[in-house]
Amino acid sequence: MTAPCNQRPLPVRNELIGRTPYGAPQIDVDVRMNTNESPHAPSPAVVEDIRAAVAEIVGDLNRYPDREAVTLRSLLADYLQATTSVPLSSDHIWAANGSNEILLQTMQAFAGPGRSALGFEPTYSMHRSVTEATGAAYHTVARREDFGIDAATALAAVEYHRPDVVFICNPNNPTGTYTDLDTIEAIYDATAGIVIIDEAYIEFCTHPSAARLLTGRPRLLVIRTISKAFGLAGVRVGYLAANPEVVAALRLVRLPYHLSSLTQAVAVAALSRRVELLSTVPEVVTQRERIVDGLSAMGLQVYPSDANFVLFSVPGDAAALWQRLVDRQVLIRDVGIPGHLRVTAGTAEETAAFLETIRTSL
Ligand SMILES: *Cc1c(COP(=O)(O)O)cnc(C)c1O
Repeated sequence: MTAPCNQRPLPVRNELIGRTPYGAPQIDVDVRMNTNESPHAPSPAVVEDIRAAVAEIVGDLNRYPDREAVTLRSLLADYLQATTSVPLSSDHIWAANGSNEILLQTMQAFAGPGRSALGFEPTYSMHRSVTEATGAAYHTVARREDFGIDAATALAAVEYHRPDVVFICNPNNPTGTYTDLDTIEAIYDATAGIVIIDEAYIEFCTHPSAARLLTGRPRLLVIRTISKAFGLAGVRVGYLAANPEVVAALRLVRLPYHLSSLTQAVAVAALSRRVELLSTVPEVVTQRERIVDGLSAMGLQVYPSDANFVLFSVPGDAAALWQRLVDRQVLIRDVGIPGHLRVTAGTAEETAAFLETIRTSL
């Protein structure tokens, strides 16, 4: 006799059994410095522009959005061209719901069963996640003790694993480490696969973007987001710059109309004021440096950061310290590296609150 339906185990894929969903705890405390968002809300002028842009399109919501998001992609191309001096048009740009969706679409197009990707750990855990979600294997290479990528080790790993995709998060999350373009070039030359440079934090960095390597490198993908430096994490827009053939490949896997009319309208309105949005970056960098100095003065080991967050090591149990901070209304991130915690640069007030709270919680 067959068991009643409700007693059968749910037939989820074997590789998902025992997994936990990705995501930092969203806890309602006074000081939230855990997910690398901007602490600065959009200015009243930007808010007004967004409001007007949404008002203009709500009456057309019975229609599907522009499937190709051409206006948005052109604006993103303008921005990249203006900041990197690389000639780019909308044909080189793809946009999706956050760079996480760009990463997933990239792996749907270039990974999959029987293929593999390579990452330099510790790094952004979604790289492994999206790789494995497509049925591909994820190989890892350890970063150096200072969290830099050792070029010789990287080339040997590429030679050994022959990955279809190599991920380089630059600057790296959660360590803040920048990898120089010579190393990226060497890795590109050593592999026949796709090389993804995840530049979610590049605007906080004084070093060059890998976008300047795009010309003549059709397997190089530079992935960006408006969630961090632009301060628009709630909009959910990420983008990619690459050879137009890469964009054509992503079109094969994207869902039709994946970017809603609302998302496109809001992103276009906001990006039309990109200089204003990015004007908060120097202040975020100032607070980041204040965190580096403050934690160092407490005798903690702090890693230099080119992003909007700081990784540091703590004496004793990092998870227990994390909880003590939460209990005192300060939320930072336990990134799962034993003995380490990561904190996002906040406003001047939030940063002061964090430094004072941790000083008295150690
Ligand atoms: C935050 C982050 C992203 C994802 O951002 P989206 O909000 O999905 O655009 C991608 N890569 C890294 C390394 C990140 O830290």
